[in-house]
Amino acid sequence: MFSSVWKSVATNIETQLTSYYFRVQKIRKVGFRGMHSTLEDVMVGGMEVKILPALQDNYMYLIVDNKTREAAVVDPVDPDLVIKTVQEHNVKLNKVLTTHHHWDHAGGNEKLVKMWTGELDVYGGDDRIGAMNHKVQQDDSFTIGGLNVRCLSTPCHTTGHICYHVTSADGQGPGAVFTGDTLFQGGCGRFFEGTPEEMYDALCAKLSALPDDTKVFCGHEYTLQNMSFARHVEPDSKIIQNRIEWAKLRRAAKDPTVPSTIGVEKSWNPFMRVHESIVQQHAGGETNPIDTMGKLRKEKDNFKA
Ligand SMILES: [Zn+2]
Repeated sequence: MFSSVWKSVATNIETQLTSYYFRVQKIRKVGFRGMHSTLEDVMVGGMEVKILPALQDNYMYLIVDNKTREAAVVDPVDPDLVIKTVQEHNVKLNKVLTTHHHWDHAGGNEKLVKMWTGELDVYGGDDRIGAMNHKVQQDDSFTIGGLNVRCLSTPCHTTGHICYHVTSADGQGPGAVFTGDTLFQGGCGRFFEGTPEEMYDALCAKLSALPDDTKVFCGHEYTLQNMSFARHVEPDSKIIQNRIEWAKLRRAAKDPTVPSTIGVEKSWNPFMRVHESIVQQHAGGETNPIDTMGKLRKEKDNFKA
């Protein structure tokens, strides 16, 4: 009797401690600044990608070469968090990869360059990008330590939008692509400065040509909204249903839904599926993938989840 009382007290204390532990872990991961998502690391062949949430739903990424610990940051709109992460992990930051000139992506470049004590090579494809000192175009390449970076010119969301495909120099695996506001998980960016033909070229020619296992790191946490549009386009797709359930669980815990892969995007992202007859039927019986792209984007612009 006595021992069972103690047992229940001990269990109670253990439960309390466990819940306290998880609360502390959560604060440690999400931070005190009310970030929209937890900080996470993803290992890709030869590199580590640190997912850094910013603003309301943006993602910055710190790409670290495993061998040299050299690092590059993608779209550092929150330079304070970038510098804190770089210092905590003792990596050698020397490059900035800017996907496009919009404020929520390029808006931290100048401040980061000012705050940072070392040299920073700032890449981008648009003269409107602050602090840019390396203008790039299609197929330009450079390195981050032992990693190779190839630039993909993907105009449409903005005229100077660049996606960066990063692979390990020894060809270990398909690597990762940083797609900014061109390709999102389950969706694509608005056509602010381009045409359906350009988005088709970006998604269905250039990005689709990457290996299916390439990890996709996009610029925003829009997955749940995008997937509900995807379900509207293909209501019977089990793949989409399952992804929605998975994404809901992730978001309930404030965990990021990035990355996905090129292969899985081809299986559920309507904008990468404009050549599929089921998607063309949804777009009013179109037979041309580019016209389908245009119609889908118009519909999505006014879609309420
Ligand atoms: Zn944008």
